[in-house]
Formats: sequence, C-alpha cells, structure tokens
Amino acid sequence: MHPQATVDRALQLSAQGLIDREVARLTGVSIGAVQKWRTGRRRARGNRRTQTSADCPRCHERPLDEPEYAYLLGLYLGDGWLTCSRKGVFAVSIACCDAWPGLAEATKTAMSAVMPISSVFTVQRPGYTEVKSTSKHWLCLFPQHGPGKKHNRKIGLAEWQRAIVDEHPGDFARGLFHSDGWRGVNRVRARLADGDRWYEYPRYLFINKSQDILLLCGQTLDRLEVAWRFSRRNAISVARRDAVARLDEFVGPKY
Ligand SMILES: [Zn+2]
Repeated sequence: MHPQATVDRALQLSAQGLIDREVARLTGVSIGAVQKWRTGRRRARGNRRTQTSADCPRCHERPLDEPEYAYLLGLYLGDGWLTCSRKGVFAVSIACCDAWPGLAEATKTAMSAVMPISSVFTVQRPGYTEVKSTSKHWLCLFPQHGPGKKHNRKIGLAEWQRAIVDEHPGDFARGLFHSDGWRGVNRVRARLADGDRWYEYPRYLFINKSQDILLLCGQTLDRLEVAWRFSRRNAISVARRDAVARLDEFVGPKY
C-alpha cells in the first residue's frame, strides 16, 4: 500500500503525458501500480494537486533532465526571471516572442521536463507569450535570481550548473540564442570593376546587457569550437561561414 501522496503524484505525472515507465521511475513504484492508478482500477482519487517535498532535483534525489535544464538555463539567462509570492512560492517566467511560436512550445517542454510535478501555463502579453511555472524550488534551480536587473549584478554559474553546461554546451547555447539571439542575413556590398555586387550570408547575433552573460555565451561557443567576436560592446557575432554552419548544428534558425 503506497501513501496517497505517491498515488497523487503518479497521477499528476501521468496527466502531464509521461509514460508509465517514467512515472514509475520518478515515484519509485512498480509500473503495474502506475498503470492501475492511471486506469482507475485502484484508488484513483481525483487529480488533487499536492506538491510533495520530494520534487526538487537539488534538495532531494529526483534526477534532473540535464539537456533540458541546460536549454532552460540558457533561456532564463537570456530572457527569463523569477518572482516570489508572499507564501514563498517561486514562479519562473520566460518571455517567448510571438514571431516564433516554436519557442513557447520548446520552453514548455523544457520546464515540464525539469520540474515534472509543476504544471506549466502561458500568459499572453503584447508581442510575446510568457511561459510560466510555479514551485517552491525554482530558486534552487536558478540561484542567479536576485534583486534588480541581471546586468546590474554579478551573474556566475554554481559549480553544479557549470558541470551541466560543460556537459551539454549545445543545449545551453540553443537556449541563449533562442531567447536573446538572432539568426539573420547580413548583406555586404563588394565594389568590383564592373559595378557593385551584393553578397548575402547568414550570421548569428547574441545581444545582452550583462557582460557576465556575454562571457558565458563566449565560453560556450569556444567549447563548441565556434568562432565568434564582439561586434558591439553588448553583442556577440558569429559570421564566419564554417562557424555559422557549426552553430546551426545546435541552434538553427529561429522561425
Ligand atoms: Zn529545492
């Protein structure tokens, strides 16, 4: 006989679309039990939302989906923020520009994978969609949270975050470029003897006001062996043909 909290948690995970095997692994019960609860043959009791204390990959033993976390961390550093309710519950929000609907979907997937027990919801804002999830433990996953704007304070990675980013640099870069980046076409004019000719080539830009976040982006590009330079004080440019092709393997166009 499992505690009701375990049954509830398993049902929530199933409701979020996880397969029985995954639910069983996360809740520490047999696949058969999950299946019985899900199909309502035993004790399936509503979908009451209870947040147990075993939900946090930092405070507890729950495994963390590291590639999705690396992506979410990139999104957060680019265009995300935390808020805290009076009851001490944190919400993580990522601003997803509406020009690229795929971004909101990818963000939802990443949030659900990182904190499976917390539901993810969206708030329509002018020009962008805020993708949001609440948990007492989001602060554990984003210790960079602090008062004021990110570019006005020191932003460094905790040791465990550094290890994940080092292991999954492509996912981290994808998050950074999906939030604060841009992949577009640059036009340059060549003056030739028989007249001007225009050449077009794709390039990436990452624009952020925080020097610390720019540095993290540069370090990650180094790790991916993607050549880059500062095109402005607050902008990293990847323009060499081979470098763009290499970064395309991890990021891709933002449509
Ligand atoms: Zn925690």
